[in-house]
Amino acid sequence: MDSAAPFIGTGLAAVGLAYMLRSKPSSNPFPTDTRTPAKAFEHDREVRNATIKPGYSAKKLEKHVAANGDFDAIIIGSGIGSMTCATIMAKAGKKVLVLEQHDQLGGCCHSFYEKGFEFDTGVHYIGEMRNNTAIRFLFDQLTNGQLQWSDVADDYDTVVLVDDENQDAASLKAIEQHVKNGTTLPSFQCSMLSGRERTIVELVKKFPSEEKAIRKYYDLLTEVRKAMLGFVGIKFMPKWAATMLIKTGLVNKYTTYFKLAEKSLTQVLDEITDNKTLKAVLAYNFGDYGTLPKDAPFVMHAVLVNHFLNGVSYPIGGSSEFAYHMFPTVEAAGGKAFVRAEVGEIVCQNGAAVGVRLKKDGTVIKAPMIISNAGLYNTAELLPPTVSPLKNMTESGVQNGVGGISVYVGLNKSNAALNLKGKHFWAFWTKKGQEDLDGVCQKYVDRGGNEMDDGPVPLLFISFPSAKDPLWDEKHPGKASATIVSFCNYDWFGEWEGERVMHRGEGYEKRKKAIGELIWKQTVALFPQLRDCVEYFDVGTPVTNKYYIRAHKGEMYGLDHNKERFTAEATNELRPETDIPNLYLCGQDIFNCGIAGAAFGGLLCASKVLNRNVYADLVDLKKKSPPSIPK
Ligand SMILES: Cc1cc2nc3c(=O)[nH]c(=O)nc-3n(C[C@H](O)[C@H](O)[C@H](O)COP(=O)(O)OP(=O)(O)OC[C@H]3O[C@@H](n4cnc5c(N)ncnc54)[C@H](O)[C@@H]3O)c2cc1C
Repeated sequence: MDSAAPFIGTGLAAVGLAYMLRSKPSSNPFPTDTRTPAKAFEHDREVRNATIKPGYSAKKLEKHVAANGDFDAIIIGSGIGSMTCATIMAKAGKKVLVLEQHDQLGGCCHSFYEKGFEFDTGVHYIGEMRNNTAIRFLFDQLTNGQLQWSDVADDYDTVVLVDDENQDAASLKAIEQHVKNGTTLPSFQCSMLSGRERTIVELVKKFPSEEKAIRKYYDLLTEVRKAMLGFVGIKFMPKWAATMLIKTGLVNKYTTYFKLAEKSLTQVLDEITDNKTLKAVLAYNFGDYGTLPKDAPFVMHAVLVNHFLNGVSYPIGGSSEFAYHMFPTVEAAGGKAFVRAEVGEIVCQNGAAVGVRLKKDGTVIKAPMIISNAGLYNTAELLPPTVSPLKNMTESGVQNGVGGISVYVGLNKSNAALNLKGKHFWAFWTKKGQEDLDGVCQKYVDRGGNEMDDGPVPLLFISFPSAKDPLWDEKHPGKASATIVSFCNYDWFGEWEGERVMHRGEGYEKRKKAIGELIWKQTVALFPQLRDCVEYFDVGTPVTNKYYIRAHKGEMYGLDHNKERFTAEATNELRPETDIPNLYLCGQDIFNCGIAGAAFGGLLCASKVLNRNVYADLVDLKKKSPPSIPK
């Protein structure tokens, strides 16, 4: 690392110089600490909906513009990347229009109500919220201290390895038997604890002869944490400066990140140990970014594990709290957000983005900057044929991420009655002693649509959101909820992507029911107390993701987090600026997935469009502010 220090200095100097040479920066979005003591949670759904479900009409838009003047920017989509960018811009005095196609703001942070139960869609836990970290401070400023966090259990993730010989009909029979008898499938379990050393000790207890390998793994995590600055620096610095570093090969002097990114998670684990069970345990949460260990760069996995290292948290009141507390700031600056406002086209003139056309009524809205939070491939499709469709980005080795499947279950007993813990279980069906997560998961996605339930789903993320939210019992007395997430092949459901939601027909319903019921049986075989408690049950498929969050191919986390995405070249391409003047991108596709990753993608974009290093502004304010404000 020492030999790279001068190059890091050069890189950062290039960033600084580039900022100085740019046109006049906007005002500092973080001049003062805006945290105020948290108010009581707003339970009234009508009051909440006034903020998070502002329906579009041409009349309302006209009225707003008449009163506030033209917008400084339009953002397509309202996920956490958009919310972060819009709120920072608003804090810098910009009038931003956010257009969301769904009937609620928030993207993956939206929640839905059905039969008296509320479910989050894309938020289970977030790291780095327990201490006074920069990202925690960012959320505090964006929500003016109103978004509150609850600690998830100290043993926040438990890896559950169910011994499974062949993932076939015999395995299904064993599951059925346990469901019938109300007994628990035997498994090997190992928990991740808040705190690096505590987790190491826990792992060593389970694998006493593997201490050296375990410590090596954690040392590598630290190496990636340090090298991460190099990845962030490439995104922050002007493209020409990053290109120069890459073309001259100096990039590998500037940072070790891209060298570390050349190895997959599987390769790194193979180098550390031969113990297959340990390897499975260390790779367990690849499902949080959706790429199999053999295809994911070790750096991506390390970033995630580092993010969780000191414990994880949950937004009190649920994920709709993000939008509920951020959009008032956007509006206070003269901005506006609309739902049911799908953008059908990015309008371009002379090759530059000048506005958007709404799909619903053809209204064209103009602004000097168009920012897309819709994801890379969707954005490319919104461009007119006369404009280059972001080829430098779409052809940089990236591809759609894996399709997601979510099972939402409302339970007719309380958390206490069901003895549910506010934590997560990562259950795998794989042969004991020969654990091969790559193998079983690949075999599963390679199944045909008609064979998808021929054996167990090899990976289930099982959570009980009701047990994580301290407000749940107040909101839903006597009830509890479970959400189970897994991945699947988009093609199993792709043929129905053009059909209307709720009207996709018998074939779709049958397939959805089959996979949903299988996932639920597997869950009940691990948690027998849940049997006979189901009051609400629904399944979200990749096609559901496409409908509600416009996931291009039903993916959970945007672009695939494969090795190709994390080369220096692709890192340099996937940035807020595009080759189309006035068109910018924000959110997970230009950084990485996760609430923190996508929010950072929003901050990065805000830095570019405001012509200032917003992260430096944030850190400056953090230094001047107390760690927390009195309650
Ligand atoms: C099942 C699941 C579980 C997850 N769990 C976690 C977790 O526990 N912790 C964590 O940190 N992360 C989690 N994530 C990941 C995290 O939620 C996402 O990475 C992040 O929220 C993505 O934010 P974004 O702003 O980039 O995009 P999104 O949230 O996807 O927002 C994009 C928005 O653009 C809108 N849009 C698209 N096209 C148009 C158009 N033409 N016109 C108007 N609007 C449009 C979409 O409707 C959507 O609202 C999870 C994701 C999923 C799916």
